Amino acid sequence: MLLLGAVPAAAYDYPVHFYSTAYVARTLNLAPQSQEWQLLALCTHLPDESVELAALNNRRGLRLRDHLGWGLFSRRASASTRRMITNHQLLHALTGGEATATTDAAVRIARRLWQEAAAAAGPPRGGIRPRTASLCALGFGLHLLGDSFAHRKLSDRARDRMYRTGLGHFADATLPDAVLRRHTDPPEYNLHYWRDYALALTEVVNGAGPVDPQVAALFDELRGISENEGRRANRVAQQRILAHFAGPALPNAWRPESHRKEPCEAYLRKLYDAPPGPPFTCQDVWRRFRVVAEDVYLQAPPGLREYADVGRPGLEFVDPEFGT
Ligand SMILES: [Zn+2]
Repeated sequence: MLLLGAVPAAAYDYPVHFYSTAYVARTLNLAPQSQEWQLLALCTHLPDESVELAALNNRRGLRLRDHLGWGLFSRRASASTRRMITNHQLLHALTGGEATATTDAAVRIARRLWQEAAAAAGPPRGGIRPRTASLCALGFGLHLLGDSFAHRKLSDRARDRMYRTGLGHFADATLPDAVLRRHTDPPEYNLHYWRDYALALTEVVNGAGPVDPQVAALFDELRGISENEGRRANRVAQQRILAHFAGPALPNAWRPESHRKEPCEAYLRKLYDAPPGPPFTCQDVWRRFRVVAEDVYLQAPPGLREYADVGRPGLEFVDPEFGT
């Protein structure tokens, strides 16, 4: 009962964010704790921390009329309903579809964003620093990738499915969010998630290339931890993962101070020590992310997501409305 009343605060484990961020930051040669490293970490969290991007806020924003109308008659889905579907599917992996297809799409999205971030350098164009905005968009992609594991259903019979667009994992509270310690999963499943997540991350930066030997070595180590550390296994594994990818610099790395959601723009300004120069906005970042995410989703197989007509001509995806 207590769990049912729990308010989902952050949609998944910080260690998971840091794992992805630290590993991916390293592949882009960002210095530990540099402003760029900090920005990438911050933007991996933003989808859960900002009012406009958090999944639950998007659902709450709907009126009863929207709720009644969108499930059965998505042909008539209102703009606010489509905005929620856009948010849930593109950013939080709440596709209601097949889990592996959703992760595959997330890998493709994150890989393209990683390539853009790797290629972006040089002077500002159109008032935006190309490197910083694309690093932030990559953070959104990494969020999606993490959620494509965190938002897999808990039930034994449905583990290969994602939670549904709209309802999300409301009925299971925040239990599914912890990729590294999904309490109701047997230990072998946790290992399975670690391995698949590690492989997905190396695919983001390597394409179809060989698995990063460091990741392979880490996975062997995790297997040993899970077999030998009993109940402590999860905590030990998290520490090991972080130390492995971020090194000794990690303990002072950025992490959010509170779970109170704020407007995206305010959050970004408060926590990111922007270097002087042309700014970029949450909208800039969202647009970069959306171009890639939309393209990949619309080319994906039909099993990927429910309400698949949303995103097509006449029922386009709808962007978040960023406030200040
Ligand atoms: Zn999320």
